[in-house]
Amino acid sequence: MCKPWSSSAPAVWLCSGNPLEAQQNHSITFAHTLCAASERAERSDSMTTQRQEQDKRYDPADSTLKFVTRQDDISKFTHCAAEMNYSSINLFSPQRQLGSQGARRTLDDDPDTLRAEMSCGHAVTPQSLTAWCRSLLDQGQYVFRCPALKDGTVQKCEAQWSYQEVRKLAVLTAAEQQHFEETMAALAAAEYCEFKSCPGCHTCVEREDISNLNVHCTVCSAVTAQAFEFCWQCLRVWKGPGPRSDRCGNDGCTNKDLELLKGCPTTSLPQVQNLDPCPSIRACPTCGLLLEHDRTGCKNILCSRCQVEFCFVCLRLTPACLQTSSYFLPCSDGVAPRQEAIPSWKRS
Ligand SMILES: [Zn+2]
Ligand SMILES: [Zn+2]
Ligand SMILES: [Zn+2]
Ligand SMILES: [Zn+2]
Ligand SMILES: [Zn+2]
Repeated sequence: MCKPWSSSAPAVWLCSGNPLEAQQNHSITFAHTLCAASERAERSDSMTTQRQEQDKRYDPADSTLKFVTRQDDISKFTHCAAEMNYSSINLFSPQRQLGSQGARRTLDDDPDTLRAEMSCGHAVTPQSLTAWCRSLLDQGQYVFRCPALKDGTVQKCEAQWSYQEVRKLAVLTAAEQQHFEETMAALAAAEYCEFKSCPGCHTCVEREDISNLNVHCTVCSAVTAQAFEFCWQCLRVWKGPGPRSDRCGNDGCTNKDLELLKGCPTTSLPQVQNLDPCPSIRACPTCGLLLEHDRTGCKNILCSRCQVEFCFVCLRLTPACLQTSSYFLPCSDGVAPRQEAIPSWKRS
């Protein structure tokens, strides 16, 4: 089944909506990835991964978090979180350090364990949030929703949390981030499908070969008793020889996404030092969705469709860019030129 990407992100192709309308809008998604160094542990930092998973805590000095003293609202939904014991070394209060042999307590017994509020208002700890979201991924769900009950009711909150929010409030380690991001990308790719409305019968047709614009409609072909083919790009009856990936023979059949990429103005990213002008629209190097940077923060953005993060400037995936650059410095290869082809998502 095909589903919209998420309720919060503008979906370019909504299978349940009007594909024609979606097709004509050529939505561009504004995106950005939170990027403070504290939010993304260095991926090479594997030595300390084990330790970090046990000791994950919020930084009490982090003014971007809202701390609360009440109990965690989601731990009872994560069966393992209830029994989750951990060493009570407090990374932020040296006088409390008991060493690795120190007393063990459960999370909710420890009055010093900081709980933070999610955007929906429910309280979590790094451990309970990690356990809950991991369990969702294990069940094949990459949209993170709050399992807590609304105050005084038996109704679930169901608020959707972004991955950026989860990454930050679950204090995901480098290994966890890698697991989350790879799983999310694989799940999104498996669900991905494109539908358009056949100009003959207006039923939704899925394209089997994403590199071929010449699409056969089985409904029209059955009704008219002859092969009916239409153009996936201009949505008119196919003209000329096929298969083709660039255009059909109809006048004015052009790829609007490519024209946007070629003709968009340049933009600047104020927080990135000494950046040369950069095209304001980029196609995601993984799935081809058109994206615009919201101009805040670092160079990287997280694609709302495939969930893969990439550098808006050099168009490499974020880990590759970071090997020779950093969040707020120019990329080692400079600004990638305007894209002249839309990358197509390779679904396995
Ligand atoms: Zn909630
Ligand atoms: Zn048709
Ligand atoms: Zn065409
Ligand atoms: Zn993408
Ligand atoms: Zn880069």
